[in-house]
Amino acid sequence: MTHSDTTAVHGGREDLAALGVHVPPIDLSTTYPVSDLDSGGASYEQMATGGRPEEGASLIYQRLWNPNVDRFERALADLEGADEAVAFASGMAALTATLIACVSAKTPHVVAVRPIYGGSDHLLATGLLGTRVTWTSADEVAEALESDTGLVLIETPANPSLDLVDIAAVVEQVHARSLDLGREVPVMVDNTFATPVLQQPVQLGATLSMHSATKYLGGHGDLIGGVVATTSEWATRLRSVRALTGALLHPLAAYQLHRGLQTLPIRVRAQQATAERIAAWLAEHDLVERVTYPGLEGDSPLIGKQMLGGGAMVAFAPKGGYAAAAEVVRRCQLITHAVSLGGVDTLIQHPASLTHRPVEAEAKPGDDLLRLSVGLEALEDLLDDLDQALRG
Ligand SMILES: *Cc1c(COP(=O)(O)O)cnc(C)c1O
Repeated sequence: MTHSDTTAVHGGREDLAALGVHVPPIDLSTTYPVSDLDSGGASYEQMATGGRPEEGASLIYQRLWNPNVDRFERALADLEGADEAVAFASGMAALTATLIACVSAKTPHVVAVRPIYGGSDHLLATGLLGTRVTWTSADEVAEALESDTGLVLIETPANPSLDLVDIAAVVEQVHARSLDLGREVPVMVDNTFATPVLQQPVQLGATLSMHSATKYLGGHGDLIGGVVATTSEWATRLRSVRALTGALLHPLAAYQLHRGLQTLPIRVRAQQATAERIAAWLAEHDLVERVTYPGLEGDSPLIGKQMLGGGAMVAFAPKGGYAAAAEVVRRCQLITHAVSLGGVDTLIQHPASLTHRPVEAEAKPGDDLLRLSVGLEALEDLLDDLDQALRG
């Protein structure tokens, strides 16, 4: 099997040489000529029900199919070790489509392990899509399943605490309970923080692995997108929801994401190497209260097994609570005070005020907590900036 670094560079590009081009042509067509009404109608039917178009068939309309989106999806699916992937306008659109696809009128119940991204938490807490949520801990997922549970959602590393959840253990619990329920309850893992470079949830038994592609997959802070890697059966369902509800990834963003995947492995490894050093440095700093970074204590059984390394996100609390945290973000100079993550430049933010603002009080992150997304700058420059920001 090809090494994943090679897949990152070549995935979704298998046909380029035969086309006589070196990079994918960008197809911005909203509509496509229909040569023959019978085959055009059949193609429409095929794609509107979530299928892939036949070779040479009219693509009909961009909401049904786009070649750049398809290329990005194929490359991402290969990296995740999944059958297929389905891309959306944003990470939240990907989550919404998944909820619509699996939480039908008969199975409106969702089991989720907190913490998760603030927007995902808020969407479930509001019940906007007709869902009902039970929040539970990772080892009590099985107990939380009910006869009408349609989805189990976990996030690891979790945003913003960087807690790890044992994916295989959750899948095993859910599978055992599914036998009693007489149907398989799908487990979705938000894999945004880990990326397929470090963690492949579908390979560990999860049904769906989702990303805010806005983050590491794009990697340069210049696009919004989402994607779900899954089985062919689920991909068909998700494509038909996408065709119906229209939360499409734009073809230009798909082109950029496809290109972003080519450098994903080296970006993630380089960012992770710097993050490991920053986490260790913060842990020793006299003005830092606490640091969370997966594997920092050197004793997480999941590092090296479920996840190749600790990733490039670091959470820490300066001594002095909220006031000190607010001062640190204000004083950062090289590091940008901004939400989002996973890009080539380092960002810092205060989750309780920003990304996790809508989260209910009992699950809100501490108000002294800061979240750092480590980029590709030199370690020394980042340490200098953090040191001056902490010391004032
Ligand atoms: C940003 C983010 C999302 C939401 O993605 P958007 O692309 O902003 O819609 C979901 N999950 C995680 C872990 C995120 O960081």
